[in-house]
Amino acid sequence: MIELRGVNKHYGKLHVLQDIELTVGRGEVVVVIGPSGSGKSTLCRAINRLETVESGTIELDGKPLPEEGRALAQLRADVGMVFQAFNLFAHKTVLDNLMLAPMKVRKKKKDEAARRARELLERVGLADQADKYPAQLSGGQQQRVAIARALAMDPKALLFDEPTSALDPEMINEVLEVMRQLARDGMTMVVVTHEMGFARSAANRVVFMDDGRIVEDRTPEEFFTAPRSERAKDFLSKIL
Ligand code: ADP
Ligand code: MG
Repeated sequence: MIELRGVNKHYGKLHVLQDIELTVGRGEVVVVIGPSGSGKSTLCRAINRLETVESGTIELDGKPLPEEGRALAQLRADVGMVFQAFNLFAHKTVLDNLMLAPMKVRKKKKDEAARRARELLERVGLADQADKYPAQLSGGQQQRVAIARALAMDPKALLFDEPTSALDPEMINEVLEVMRQLARDGMTMVVVTHEMGFARSAANRVVFMDDGRIVEDRTPEEFFTAPRSERAKDFLSKIL
């Protein structure tokens, strides 16, 4: 579903993505971990073309990422992104947050968009919050709305960039549980997270990044029981 070949990017002298090779199959869940500044967010943003790259190819569903225009808007709809900050429209109700883009980008009729929005709110356990505004919800609820909003576009894949890092501890699990359910339902997902329990239980593969490179790309079992690189060992010893 997602394929990166020989991808490179610099910020000035900083080589932030170095010869990245990554394949994410349909229905696969790939967890990306690594120290702060290792290039995890840049990788996600490149897949969604929020960032351009200098060399290499990135394909989604067998096609190169579009450069601009309508095709680019379509790509952003096909590859949903959920950020650390929930990025909901503050002056719109929860229901409207879920209906706007499907009507605008997918050209859905209002009735159909509303029906689908309610179905998705049900799925993330927020059916009774449709008419509230984001500020009236907890952080965990807002992040579940953000996930439902991404799903409202019927994406081919979802990218998560530290989706629980801004949450109070007691709210982390309700968000991870929604993500686990998505994984079980076969959604293709790239998840940047420090939640190692999630990585162990939900990931097909763990990708460890350091200094802009993919240092390891293995099953969670292999990675957590016997990391090969010193850098991964060092990283795990600090966070586990
Ligand atoms: P991570 O998500 O793993 O913490 P990032 O992908 O955000 O890492 O950043 C990788 C490196 O690129 C960091 O050193 C960061 O400071 C730098 N960086 C990120 N975005 C920019 C930018 N827009 N301009 C310059 N440097 C950036
Ligand atoms: Mg980051």
